[in-house]
Amino acid sequence: MTIEEREELAEIINQDIIKLSQKVEELKEFTAPVEPDSAIGRISRMDAINNKSIVEASMRNLQSRLNQLQKISQVVYDNDYGICINCHKPIQFERLKIRPEIRLCAGCLRS
Ligand SMILES: [Zn+2]
Repeated sequence: MTIEEREELAEIINQDIIKLSQKVEELKEFTAPVEPDSAIGRISRMDAINNKSIVEASMRNLQSRLNQLQKISQVVYDNDYGICINCHKPIQFERLKIRPEIRLCAGCLRS
C-alpha cells in the first residue's frame, strides 16, 4: 500500500469516527429513562420501552464499530495494516475503503 493510500484511509477512518460519534450522541437522547408517571398511556409507555431497547442495541453496535475504528486509526501507518491476518496477503484497497477495520482478505472472510 502506498503512503497516499494510507493517508486516504486515515481520512476515511477519521470521517467515520466523527459520523459515528455524532450518531451515538443522537441516540443517547433516546435512551433517557422512561418516566413511570409520565403523561403517556400504558401502551405508548410499552412502545417507549421497546424502542429504548432497540436504540440501545444499535448503540452497542455503533459503539463497538467506533472502538474498532479508533484502534485502526492508530495502526493505519504500520506495515502490517492492510495485510490479511490469516494468509498475509494484501487486502484489496477498495475493500479497506469501505470497511477500514477489516483484518481479513475476501478469500479468508469467506472460508
Ligand atoms: Zn487472507
